[in-house]
Amino acid sequence: MRLDRRRLRCVRRCAKDFADRCERADAHTLDELTTVAGKCAGLQSLTLQIDNLSPGVLGLTEIVDCSGVITISSHCATIQATLFHEIGHLLLGHSHVDFDLALSVLNDVVAPPGFEHTFELLTPEYDPHEVATAEAEAEHFAVEVGYLLDAPPGVIREFAYGLG
Ligand SMILES: [Zn+2]
Repeated sequence: MRLDRRRLRCVRRCAKDFADRCERADAHTLDELTTVAGKCAGLQSLTLQIDNLSPGVLGLTEIVDCSGVITISSHCATIQATLFHEIGHLLLGHSHVDFDLALSVLNDVVAPPGFEHTFELLTPEYDPHEVATAEAEAEHFAVEVGYLLDAPPGVIREFAYGLG
């Protein structure tokens, strides 16, 4: 899915702000990057855990009050990219930051007879276009952050962003 240029610029700016804050905080490990992301999002804490998730779910983010946990599946081959994707959802203010969670919890669950209506109420409804856009934005964010954290600081980056 293609994002419009204005929205793409917002995603890139958000990725650059995050990468800059990571650099200023001298954050390099996944845990350190996660902590910086939590601060950027105004959370009291944000932690990373690797756990068993249902097949097909690579990562999810859960926020309760002012604390968050990003869970990355132990069968995920791209932990860093998936972490950046989840951070992207968080920092881009996607309203369904726990969307993956909602999906995973109810995934493959069949409503027991007589409970179809309750089940419907529990199943969040999302506009498929909105979800696709949010997923594309999180992916752009992840790619940008991956690039920025490896990129040499200073002139080259300024040049690249001057063109954006
Ligand atoms: Zn996602």
